[in-house]
Amino acid sequence: MKLALHWKILIGMALGALLGYIMTSQGLAQFVKDWIAPFGTIFIRLLKMIAIPLIIASLVKGISDLEDIAKFSKIGIRTMLIYIGTTLVAISIGLVLVHIIQPGNNVTEETLTELLAENGSSASSKISNASQQMESGPLQPLVDIVPDNIFNAMSNNGLMLQVIFFVILFGICLLLVSKEQAAPLKKVFSSLNEVILKMVDLMMLYAPLGVFALMANLVADTKRPDLFIALLSYAMTVFAGLLLMIAFYILVVYLYTGRKPGFFLKGISPAQLVAFSTSSSAATLPVTMERVEEHLGVEEEITSFVCPVGATINMDGTSLYQAVAAVFICQALGVPLGFGEIIMILATALLASIGSAAVPGAGVVMLIIVLESIDFPSELLGTGIAMILAVDRPLDMVRTMVNVTGDAAVSMIVGHSSGQLHYPQARELNDYYKK
Ligand code: ASP
Repeated sequence: MKLALHWKILIGMALGALLGYIMTSQGLAQFVKDWIAPFGTIFIRLLKMIAIPLIIASLVKGISDLEDIAKFSKIGIRTMLIYIGTTLVAISIGLVLVHIIQPGNNVTEETLTELLAENGSSASSKISNASQQMESGPLQPLVDIVPDNIFNAMSNNGLMLQVIFFVILFGICLLLVSKEQAAPLKKVFSSLNEVILKMVDLMMLYAPLGVFALMANLVADTKRPDLFIALLSYAMTVFAGLLLMIAFYILVVYLYTGRKPGFFLKGISPAQLVAFSTSSSAATLPVTMERVEEHLGVEEEITSFVCPVGATINMDGTSLYQAVAAVFICQALGVPLGFGEIIMILATALLASIGSAAVPGAGVVMLIIVLESIDFPSELLGTGIAMILAVDRPLDMVRTMVNVTGDAAVSMIVGHSSGQLHYPQARELNDYYKK
């Protein structure tokens, strides 16, 4: 019997976590680091290696297939509005939950001292990282979208938005020149795209082993699991919010496109599991795009634009977490929050999630900016951040999963509204008859 990919990945994760646990309890954590972890790093590198070429090939192909610039701008505006809408829903869910559960009221003085001793120094480095970002002007994020050297941008995975900017312009110009002039380039990009998608297919064969190694290393690397218990009600508030967010996507996709929850979840689950194992939406992007296109049935014209843009700016899980964490820290440290501050958290968590890089731990750096926007006492900032760092990694894993699910859901919605969503089986049959 052929096992579905998500089962293979899930088994890989479970076995990895088990092995990590056994090895650590036998005092062999270093063995895991030396001999198992590198296979996880190789998986992440493979995914990152393919991300920029994939964006370039599929976005050029996607835009040039549209054959109409007006259609592209309509899709662009619709995508942005829906992204902002889902992020606002996520933040609101977080804010409501954290006010109902009030996790900050359960933190004892003792736990606080322990958390500070454990994570105080790494909190300070995150704060200095955030203050560097704060020093730039308000329009700097806009300036940062435009590359000054496209080859430089293409050689840095952190500059994905710059690459997207260039490629969109390139794709639009491909539509503006005559059909004869565009034809050879269109052919090249279309063939390049096929080859790169095949590379993603091959990489997915390695995914179960990759996540096995990642999980083993993660478990071997966890220093103080007991601190998780101390922060249980905070962690559970974030988890509950993230689960609600997934339920929200399932519901919206079902109501708007008619696709059943099982179809949506089965289609996207391998990407969710890779997001969980890598904590990076950018590293997961090739998998997300493959799943959305091949298994959820969204046409490439939509996927090629909505997914890469979503991976960089649409982070619903991150924004929800930032809202909960900001209020939790204030509750625990006795900093009062009025209605004005709550609205400020809503606005800055929206911007902070857009500005968060799609890499592990980026959300916590931007959380510092959210806290500073509500004039959080600077002498308490170190304590506040140190407090949540102990549980940040598991929360990062789940919020990244939500970030990726959000991109997939929005792709389906935009796809459906533009008539570019089909059942994959129907598309295969269509292609078959065309041949
Ligand atoms: N790790 C998240 C992502 O890549 C960002 C974050 O919340 O830290 O989507």
